[in-house]
Amino acid sequence: MTTRQRGGAAPVDVADGSTRLTVQPLARTDLFNTFRVGGPADFLTRAGTVDELALALRWAREHELPVTIFGGGSNMLVADQGVRGLVVVVRRPGARSESGLEVLEEADEVLVRVPAAAPSNWFGRTAAERGWADLAWLVGLPGNVGGAVVNNAGAHGGEITDRLVSVRAVSASGELAEYPREWLKPSYRFTTLKGSASERDLVLVDALFRLRRGDARALAAEADDYAEYRHRTQPTGACAGSIFKNPPGTYSGLLIEQAGLKGTRVGGAVVSEKHANFIVNDGGATAADIVNLIHLVQERVLQQSGIELEPEIERTGDWV
Ligand SMILES: Cc1cc2nc3c(=O)[nH]c(=O)nc-3n(C[C@H](O)[C@H](O)[C@H](O)COP(=O)(O)OP(=O)(O)OC[C@H]3O[C@@H](n4cnc5c(N)ncnc54)[C@H](O)[C@@H]3O)c2cc1C
Repeated sequence: MTTRQRGGAAPVDVADGSTRLTVQPLARTDLFNTFRVGGPADFLTRAGTVDELALALRWAREHELPVTIFGGGSNMLVADQGVRGLVVVVRRPGARSESGLEVLEEADEVLVRVPAAAPSNWFGRTAAERGWADLAWLVGLPGNVGGAVVNNAGAHGGEITDRLVSVRAVSASGELAEYPREWLKPSYRFTTLKGSASERDLVLVDALFRLRRGDARALAAEADDYAEYRHRTQPTGACAGSIFKNPPGTYSGLLIEQAGLKGTRVGGAVVSEKHANFIVNDGGATAADIVNLIHLVQERVLQQSGIELEPEIERTGDWV
């Protein structure tokens, strides 16, 4: 591996054979998460192939840096103090192209491998158009397939791990291994990989799904309905989706609304008027504003209903 620093906070070129990465010191993280907040990462790089990811992990290990993985950054709250170590943004040119899909079997059911870097929305739309059932609900979901698997993202009664067969992941030693669905122990918005965005030494490279067959026209119409529903019910500003998990038997949004908290503000962070379980950065919000608003909402809902709301979003970075 060769490393070439161009001086100051200039990018560092890291190469191993034909694999090349650009590592940016003191990089902005707000550009890589949908809340649009967060301080600088010590280092940041974009990687997507097995070789690139392995090289990134190896470079971090050689420099004794912790690694934080970002997918689309749509379920994250990044600290104002930034992120220590190396942030790896999982991006891959061509990940949203049909050539990125590897169809291993196409009979009554379809066995298809998709890159972790592929946008979930694109995969859902492509599956529907090809007449592959089970994933139309993905249309409109921000972020990438890798992040969706880690979170066991879901909507409209579906969860991404419902039809997941396995994932392949690269480790810090550069090895690629396949892990069956059961290894992730998926449950509501949770897998064993969730909650450890920092100090991650395993990066998902792709995911294998077994999908049923359906009618392409009907699936595309279903996907349109889901997209329209999102547009109608969810805010479009800078946010990270549902802030809290739904408690058993009720909805966080309903509890927050019943506590009269719609429109409540801390700094630039505001509880959405459109959907009470969303907090929107309406301009200059800091991560601290968002956390303080989360605490305020938790406190008021607990007083009002006796229910403790559990965050669905993941805090990452340096919070001390
Ligand atoms: C407007 C809006 C609507 C939303 N609606 C929904 C919804 O209906 N249902 C739902 O479940 N969520 C929803 N979300 C939240 C979010 O979009 C999903 O959870 C999404 O699947 C996260 O994907 P991501 O790529 O952005 O993950 P990130 O936020 O980037 O990462 C999430 C976790 O996955 C890890 N990770 C990401 N990629 C990899 C990888 N390749 N290897 C290892 N670890 C990785 C990260 O380290 C982190 O721990 C919404 C968000 C927004 C902004």
